[in-house]
Amino acid sequence: MFQLSKHDQHACVTFLQDLVRTPSFSCQEQHVAERLAAEMRAVGFDEVWTDRIGNVIGRIGPGDGPRLLYNAHMDIIGVGDPDAWTRDPFGAEIEDGILYGRGSADMKGSLSSLVYGAKALKDEGVKLAGDLYVVGVVQEEPCEGYAMRVLVEEEGLRPDWVVLAEPTNLQISRGHRGRMELHVTVRGRSSHASMPHLGENAIYGAARIIFSLELLADMLADDPFLGKGTLAVTRIENTGGSKNVIPDSCTFILDRRLTLGETEAKALAEVEGVIAREQVRAQVRLAEFEYTSYTGYLCHDMEHYPAWVIPESHPLVQTTARAVREVVGQRPTIGKWDFSTDGVYTMGVAGIPTIGIGPGDEAQAHTADECIRLADCYTAAQIYAQLALELLGQD
Ligand SMILES: [Zn+2]
Repeated sequence: MFQLSKHDQHACVTFLQDLVRTPSFSCQEQHVAERLAAEMRAVGFDEVWTDRIGNVIGRIGPGDGPRLLYNAHMDIIGVGDPDAWTRDPFGAEIEDGILYGRGSADMKGSLSSLVYGAKALKDEGVKLAGDLYVVGVVQEEPCEGYAMRVLVEEEGLRPDWVVLAEPTNLQISRGHRGRMELHVTVRGRSSHASMPHLGENAIYGAARIIFSLELLADMLADDPFLGKGTLAVTRIENTGGSKNVIPDSCTFILDRRLTLGETEAKALAEVEGVIAREQVRAQVRLAEFEYTSYTGYLCHDMEHYPAWVIPESHPLVQTTARAVREVVGQRPTIGKWDFSTDGVYTMGVAGIPTIGIGPGDEAQAHTADECIRLADCYTAAQIYAQLALELLGQD
């Protein structure tokens, strides 16, 4: 079994502290990307490069054969309310074996574990029948899956298996719900607010649709593993200029979570059905996003991220469970994530067998005083080395 020496444990923590002390908000990952590439070179990866969108890719192996890709995003979300933190969000302080800071659990601890897991494999001199890729991905937080699509479809790196190192407390995750962002725009007719009967209040039209949507939410599809689809109105805005004018337009945003079997077309048709029933002049459309990566790559797509699940009986799931048992002595639980990941593309769109396992607690992601247990980072590194051996090792 692979072990991290005291020296490597120390190096793994020092590297993680550097990562946490280098803020890497989405589209501003350059400094963390450079630090990651430098660490990969220092520990002996066979090849390290940065692709057009800014992903950092490190490879170990013969250069042909099957491909195993370990994925961790480099970006973090904002700190939120600074007063909610009792630690410096970028201090990477350690107390009682726990490291604190934004991105420690989501997911810089994983990045460090992946690099040192790969180092353990390399140092052991294991002969590989295929290549291990460790990829630090950009912009997962605002548009998960997009940077992986660029890597697979534009850079031509199509793996045979993907392991997402998002936090799972070292258990296995085999899927999650998808999501869409929908915009509903209601049209009215303005008039002076002292004579509302001369106008048509767009807010009243929106209210009728929203009330119907609340009833629709109870009837959305259910899945025994992923749970129910949901919808929620998360923002509402109107135009009308002055406060004493009947508004002629009102737009609201719908956050729609998709369970298995719920497609983009189905979700749109449900809202269109509500609009038609309420006889309101309104239109629904799928929102779009646009971002420019730190390398200047323009990202543009629809806000639609499909649900995905890999069967529990799939060899990747079973091999991962075996690797975990090998390292920690017991079988992991096999469950799902509540949040969304790059799996929306790798499994949801590209159909590449994908699974999740990582150090850190899912509940720590995006919270104040975010933290990770260092012992879990070492164990994760051992698991990543063991899993790579099981999938790529020559016997
Ligand atoms: Zn994450």
